[in-house]
Amino acid sequence: MTFRGRFAPSPTGRLHLGNARSALLGWLQARAAGGQFLLRVEDLDRARCRPQFLDDLMRDLEWLGLTWDEPPLFQSARDDVYRDALERLARLDRVYPCFCTRAEIARAASAPHGLSDEGPRYPGTCAHLSAAEITERSLTRTPAYRFRSLPGEVRFVDGLQGPSSQDVAAVVGDFVVRRNDGVASYQLAVVVDDAASGITHVLRGDDLLSSTPRQLQLYAALELPAPEFFHVPLVLGEDGKRLAKREGAFALAELRERGLPAERVLGLLAAWSGLGDGSPVALEELVRRFRPEVLPRAPVVAREQTLVTA
Ligand code: GLU
Repeated sequence: MTFRGRFAPSPTGRLHLGNARSALLGWLQARAAGGQFLLRVEDLDRARCRPQFLDDLMRDLEWLGLTWDEPPLFQSARDDVYRDALERLARLDRVYPCFCTRAEIARAASAPHGLSDEGPRYPGTCAHLSAAEITERSLTRTPAYRFRSLPGEVRFVDGLQGPSSQDVAAVVGDFVVRRNDGVASYQLAVVVDDAASGITHVLRGDDLLSSTPRQLQLYAALELPAPEFFHVPLVLGEDGKRLAKREGAFALAELRERGLPAERVLGLLAAWSGLGDGSPVALEELVRRFRPEVLPRAPVVAREQTLVTA
């Protein structure tokens, strides 16, 4: 099977060095395996995406030499595909319309039990509405659609974090696959797209480790082959918090515009990845140095000073 990896940024801000490290490691992993590397633009959240950010991120990747082997996929153009997947789940009775507002869910949820990155566990309020109730509620509200998660631990072995598991039904509950504005949720889109692109290896930040069990349930329900996962610990700021897209000092576009040589940034990313001592390095040299065993398993701290003095 050909190795196919990908980088799937959302153009909702400027890429920072943490994003660049994930892109670099995914790219190196694909090259080392003689495989392909794809770019997917996760631009479903129209309100937060900006053409300028898209332009920036493509230039950033080109600047570092992180090329992609096929035309990029834009999620905003793939609504039909997500709709098909949703219909398939509906035929299997694995989704249902949900009319709850956030406030209603917060009130009904029995916090602190099960607080996931989606907020409080969905208590299943709309899980068993009758056809008449659905018709009646549809008159006043447009529903979201939720996936009926299955109870029991979802176990998988992450390539970097080792054995992981989560009982999705207990922690998250039934989760949204289509938002009430008609847009596919991240969870559905990422699964449908990775499968459609034949992605075999997903390398991404470990903030998404807790989404993986949900995605594995979707792969199973849609009878799609799941990729292998590699969740890289995040790059943290000096305050110990993860780098955010708004942090200018670490924004790639800013460093590029300041005229910093790409090799300087690659040197820093290499040092954060067990591939160098921080001195400037060419991408081809990193291809030579890369071994899957060096993929980082612990978070690193980005020091602003490193770049100020660059
Ligand atoms: N678009 C997501 C992000 O920028 C990444 C999705 C993924 O790699 O699965 O955080």
